[in-house]
Amino acid sequence: MMEEQCILLLDGDTEFRALLGAVLNARGYRVLEAASAQAATTVLLTESPDLVIVDGLLPDLPGVEWIESIRQGDAETLIVYLSAFWRDLATFQRLTQELGVSLVAYKPLDPLVFAETIGRLLKLEPRRTDSVPPTVGSAPAEPPDTLRARMAQLREAYTLELPGKLDELEARIDEARQRPDAAKQAASSAHRLRGTAGAYGFKLVGVLAGKIEDLLSEYQSSPLRVRRNLWTEISRALEDARLAARSQGSTSRVGLQSMDTVSAGTILFVDDDADVRRTAKLFLRKQLLDVCVAGSAPEALHKAASIKLAAAIVDVHLKERSGFDLCRELRELPGKENLPLVLMSGDQRLETRVAATQVGASLFIEKPLREDVLSLAVQQIVDETSARHGRVLLLEDDPDFAKHAELLLQANDIDTRAIVTPAELPSALEEFRPDLLLLDIDLPNTSGVDVCKALRMSVQWQTLPILMITAHVDDDMRIEAFRSGANDFISKPVLEEEFNARVDMQLMHARLLQERAERDPLSGLMLRRPFLEALEQRLSEAHRNETPLALALIDIDHFKQVNDGFGHTYGDTVIAGLGRLLRQRFRHEDLRCRWGGEEFIVVLPGQKAELLERALGRVLKELSEMRFEASDRTTFSVTASAGVAARPDDGLSAEALIRRADRRLYQAKSNGRNRIVGPSSHYPDESRSGFRKQHIA
Ligand code: GH3
Ligand code: MG
Ligand code: MG
Repeated sequence: MMEEQCILLLDGDTEFRALLGAVLNARGYRVLEAASAQAATTVLLTESPDLVIVDGLLPDLPGVEWIESIRQGDAETLIVYLSAFWRDLATFQRLTQELGVSLVAYKPLDPLVFAETIGRLLKLEPRRTDSVPPTVGSAPAEPPDTLRARMAQLREAYTLELPGKLDELEARIDEARQRPDAAKQAASSAHRLRGTAGAYGFKLVGVLAGKIEDLLSEYQSSPLRVRRNLWTEISRALEDARLAARSQGSTSRVGLQSMDTVSAGTILFVDDDADVRRTAKLFLRKQLLDVCVAGSAPEALHKAASIKLAAAIVDVHLKERSGFDLCRELRELPGKENLPLVLMSGDQRLETRVAATQVGASLFIEKPLREDVLSLAVQQIVDETSARHGRVLLLEDDPDFAKHAELLLQANDIDTRAIVTPAELPSALEEFRPDLLLLDIDLPNTSGVDVCKALRMSVQWQTLPILMITAHVDDDMRIEAFRSGANDFISKPVLEEEFNARVDMQLMHARLLQERAERDPLSGLMLRRPFLEALEQRLSEAHRNETPLALALIDIDHFKQVNDGFGHTYGDTVIAGLGRLLRQRFRHEDLRCRWGGEEFIVVLPGQKAELLERALGRVLKELSEMRFEASDRTTFSVTASAGVAARPDDGLSAEALIRRADRRLYQAKSNGRNRIVGPSSHYPDESRSGFRKQHIA
């Protein structure tokens, strides 16, 4: 028999605790609540919960510090860390590796899916007792309908209180404007809304509150050096949040958004001409694509924040905001850093195209819209995206189950392949290279457990995530499954929601592992080895299709002086800053790598050198305008130089292109730095006007 498991929920926001508490309670957990680090510490004097959920920003202490303090005497308790945003890989590793945090989850979170994940953690890692993992769905204390009703009730109450919360935030912002020391209070009001509004289904309100929090924190850290329109930006975000609160409130559904099925990927189409929107909708629907249209930037942002997008197609000339700005803002929404973007315009000037590349658009299509052009563009984008959703291999002898599982996976844009016997496994693994294996335990003549053991013995498949499936419900079988090396376990008949949640979880984990292996933690860019592999692949594509490819080698100017003058740590913030710029300002298919030290490489497949020179010119100008803080009172700025080379003129191999770019970089350095030297033209910095073209041969 299993004892009731206990969860401590530490979060500064009452409503967030109420919602998550209700969901966890309904799943049969005993939930203890604490609003501050101090209160939680007191709880731990008398209680020993099986799992602790900690918000990253507590009213009295950063969540990380509280975890540090409890880890000193307790290495065992499972900890889940909640954060409003992805901070950086270093923090993530500190939490997961050094502090033994089992899961870092991001707000806003869907309470039902989150509870599912928590359940899995408690089942998989019964560290306190040696008890067996409990049966899936063992003791739901409350039937789902009651939970649904309870959640609807909580949401209704929250909907009513939301305008008041926004008023309170406004009052605190006004106060902060008078007295900088009140900024902290205002920021923490915004922080609470950021996390909680999203969980209650007000995703856009959450996003906007997040923006306000970031702006206030910026103000709080250097009140004397605020950006010019800080307060305008804050009040605009607040206004938008009020609007969003009203519009979502009036259409308020019973229950939460997560209960409605949302498609795995919708195309967002933004144009202020209603006729164009209608036409596009017609074209895209014909291709069986989910489309959602918006007539303005705020409407687009509102919709984008609450649905899962496959891509956005945006008109350059929107009325109140340029399409470029909208693209930037879309990419700043949580989880949309890599959203594929397509821009449309009747304007064919190179300048416009450069600007499009600059905001990360993958494609540029001409207006008036043509059906064939639009379909091609969308197909290309969708193909690229689905390649990123992951591949799942299914070994299952029951054809009905296999079909059902494949349909579920495909509905989530996951590539699938199904095989029936273990004999097919080696070649399927080789060819298909899955990110996850779904393995049936009950195979004719063999057991999935043995298959799993065999895979774990080969170096190549040691880390492949494996999700086992079986109709057996006895605990011995489960234990054996985990012992054989399965990552997770699911029983037949499967619940769709649970199936999706478990598959997602494994794929997400696999992606994280891969990210960790391929990305440089400081800059967030690719490391040299995976970059070179990707470059080889792009070069052979370019060779096949006879398309151009441009490459730039970038080196920060006088970087030793930064290190010597301010210290290595401040040097690191510069590397991270340039890394972020390079991540945000190019298309998702462009390669960006930290080549080493303070050297970076950017590759634009399909583009000529001139476009890269211009796009990079703007990025370097942006870099030179960034102010880095050295200590409390001083700031500094940096510049960088680059050499550009392109195929086919400068060579065909990676080696030849990099060598040529390196020589040009050297030239840029000797010509005075803060400039780009490319094959046909030079772009020296002309004091205030930035990087202007000087001559083209
Ligand atoms: P130049 O304009 O000629 O490029 O001058 P520079 O001072 O930048 O010279 P160089 O490119 O040769 O110097 C690179 C310096 O970058 C040397 C090294 O100490 C520093 N560096 C390399 N990797 C890192 C790092 O990860 N963090 C920090 N802070 N510094 C690094
Ligand atoms: Mg260097
Ligand atoms: Mg340098």
